[in-house]
Amino acid sequence: MEKKILHIDVNSAFLSWSALKLLKEDPTAVDLRTIPSAVGGDVKTRHGIITARSLPAKEYGIKTAEPVVKALQKCPGLVLVQGDFATYHEYSSKFIEILFNYSELVEQVSIDEAFVDISDFCMDDMEAHLTTPVDGTTDISTLKENDRALATAAMIKDEIRDTLGFTVNVGISSNKLLAKMASDFRKPDRLHTLYPEEIKVKMWGHPIGDLFGCGKNTAEKLKSLGIMTIGDAANTDLQVLIGYLGSNAGEYIYAAANGIGGDEVHSEHEAAKSYSNETTTSEDITGEKFAELAYPLIKHLSEKVSKRMKRDDIKGYTVRVMVKTNTFGRHSRQTKLISPTNDARVIERTARELLEKLSFGDEGILNEEGLGYRLIGVGVADLDYESEYEQMDIFGFMEDKKSDEKQAKLDAMMKSINDRFGKGKVKRGKE
Ligand SMILES: [Mg+2]
Repeated sequence: MEKKILHIDVNSAFLSWSALKLLKEDPTAVDLRTIPSAVGGDVKTRHGIITARSLPAKEYGIKTAEPVVKALQKCPGLVLVQGDFATYHEYSSKFIEILFNYSELVEQVSIDEAFVDISDFCMDDMEAHLTTPVDGTTDISTLKENDRALATAAMIKDEIRDTLGFTVNVGISSNKLLAKMASDFRKPDRLHTLYPEEIKVKMWGHPIGDLFGCGKNTAEKLKSLGIMTIGDAANTDLQVLIGYLGSNAGEYIYAAANGIGGDEVHSEHEAAKSYSNETTTSEDITGEKFAELAYPLIKHLSEKVSKRMKRDDIKGYTVRVMVKTNTFGRHSRQTKLISPTNDARVIERTARELLEKLSFGDEGILNEEGLGYRLIGVGVADLDYESEYEQMDIFGFMEDKKSDEKQAKLDAMMKSINDRFGKGKVKRGKE
């Protein structure tokens, strides 16, 4: 059966979230969303670039990623606010939490975007969520599959708006690529479907540069060859595109323009919240063997966690140790650091102290004769996203092959395309 995938994208996320924070601090303050305003740069020196702007600012022609100086030329009265990542992270988490009420399969792709697979969102779930009639009918059993997806998307959109105070766009389709394309259609606070049978009408007329994953250089190259729209690319022979762009990009553009994309939503709920490693022990770690066996393990696990965090360029505030005893009890202890870390020595030192307290403090586990550990784990949670968030678009990878992560995502997508359609057997999109 075809999947039902949503792509949910917060409208002008940073700007909306800054507006909400200001209103929270001062309910009489002007709502930044209703005036020409922007987040970005250094507010005092008026340098840097615009990272988000309000719809009224957009009407002045102000674009994201343009220099603040240029934006001020277009609109001298533009109200500028400084980015506030702690606040953004808070709203982002709340937004993602709501999505998890509808599906286990939520893949956050940036601070303000996520895919949700709602294929299994069943009627019972729907009734539980349904408080207002959808599309004038309360009889949800008569809703057809696509209508049900639409109704679910509407519930999610409205719940976010009504409980958190900001709006989102939701794209609905049977794969991630089309859902993402759809959420980018008219904004704000809207739902759009883009099923494969709709691409001809809804997507093919768009400029080729609007195609997800088609970077600026690729778009320029295609335009110079007379391929102006997504439909033009879809109806160009695959081999011709490969000839122009090479096999990776050529195949990708051809498949994407024909509405073919991966449909696996990779849920990273827990993974996104903490980094941890654990290991079972070769012999029970009892009180007597503690120093000999536990300390080297803690060192090893701390190094592993640190290495993964450094690879992802992220730090966390909370260090945690977990143990499983030979009587199968699970216990853990954690502490919050003053500043976030991914340093192996800091993690190790903290984890050692925690494990000592857990083992030998008041009610220490290893105080009891015969008890020992079968498993020890070390983790870092409470991640600090401040340094990490750039509004990265995961499919803007065509021009940036340097990043292994992006390359891996591209490879995964191509694999999924090939698995589904067979390499080289991608059919042309003409009807
Ligand atoms: Mg957004």
